[in-house]
Amino acid sequence: MMALAGYPLGIECHLLDTRADSSGGQVAPIRVAELDDLQALEALAREADVITFDIENVSVAALESLQAIVPVHPAPAAVAVAQDRLSEKRLFDSLGIPAAPYVTIDGAADFDEVDTELGWPVVIKARRLGYDGRGQRLVDSAGELAAAWAELGERPAIAEGFVDFDCEVSLIGVSDQSQNLRFYPLTENRHADGMLESSIAPFVNAELQQQAEAWMTAMVRKFHYVGILTIEFFVTPSGLVANEIAPRVHNSGHWTIEGAVSSQFENHLRAILGLPTGATTTRGTIAMRNLIGRMPARAELLAIDGLHMHDYGKSPRPGRKIGHCTMVAADRNSAQASLDTLDRLLGSSTA
Ligand code: AMP
Repeated sequence: MMALAGYPLGIECHLLDTRADSSGGQVAPIRVAELDDLQALEALAREADVITFDIENVSVAALESLQAIVPVHPAPAAVAVAQDRLSEKRLFDSLGIPAAPYVTIDGAADFDEVDTELGWPVVIKARRLGYDGRGQRLVDSAGELAAAWAELGERPAIAEGFVDFDCEVSLIGVSDQSQNLRFYPLTENRHADGMLESSIAPFVNAELQQQAEAWMTAMVRKFHYVGILTIEFFVTPSGLVANEIAPRVHNSGHWTIEGAVSSQFENHLRAILGLPTGATTTRGTIAMRNLIGRMPARAELLAIDGLHMHDYGKSPRPGRKIGHCTMVAADRNSAQASLDTLDRLLGSSTA
């Protein structure tokens, strides 16, 4: 999607991924290599004006060494934090951003503290390599903790107090190279089995919007961050509680392709290339629905008036995001109605 956004601007994206048939490889030249293959990465960097990435499980060491050849955005230090849930918690603490209480789990000796500090239920999350609900378990009682941790491979983890939230939202912002920020409106996100299923934007709440923007600004300043940054929050009766950060373009911002004046993908490219960023204003109320595990017939989707379809050209697999649809509506009720129509067509995507 970044390569597609760059094309009309005359920005050429050259990609590196582990498979030639990955989605990006279908629209831009691609090198096939492991993501920590320094030789391949350096060859790419020598031909490039800037290096970026759209997933966060990249090698921070490799990104750091590429900085000797070419600018790398966003900052590898921000990626390092996003890769480790404990570092992420410490970042939230250091910036005064409320987050769920937690206990670090390095061994069974830490279980007592989970019981005394957090109460039940808790969510245990592997510190590294967890996303889309992977690497985490909901644990209802002390007696179930050992088995749940074993299921995570007894990896270093954190146990998090369960947040009784009203809904989940994310803030996506873009920082240019002079640290000028623009923000998209908060987006409301619905998850199924820990994975984003649908989003509606804007989530209108001026107070929460302002609070989230202030926290993102602090984060951008801390890392001298350039590009798109995402923070996911729980909305609770006492305000926003941060869940996690994503130092990249984000699934909850896919709606910006059709629903905002400049999309997150275009703005990311503009920022990392030192160009002026574009307006983040919305074009109405926008609904986005992920296509997970199964690609419906094109004709069925396109029969829904106003629907924009994105097929990533990935082979379907249960639980795999293989595309998304966006609907730009006049108001929230119509956006919700479009999502309901899609839900009926798709059934439960996680079944
Ligand atoms: P994560 O990978 O941390 O984004 O978690 C995936 C989803 O699991 C979140 O979007 C929430 O729906 C749910 N979740 C994660 N942590 C918690 C928590 N501490 N309390 C309640 N729900 C949670």
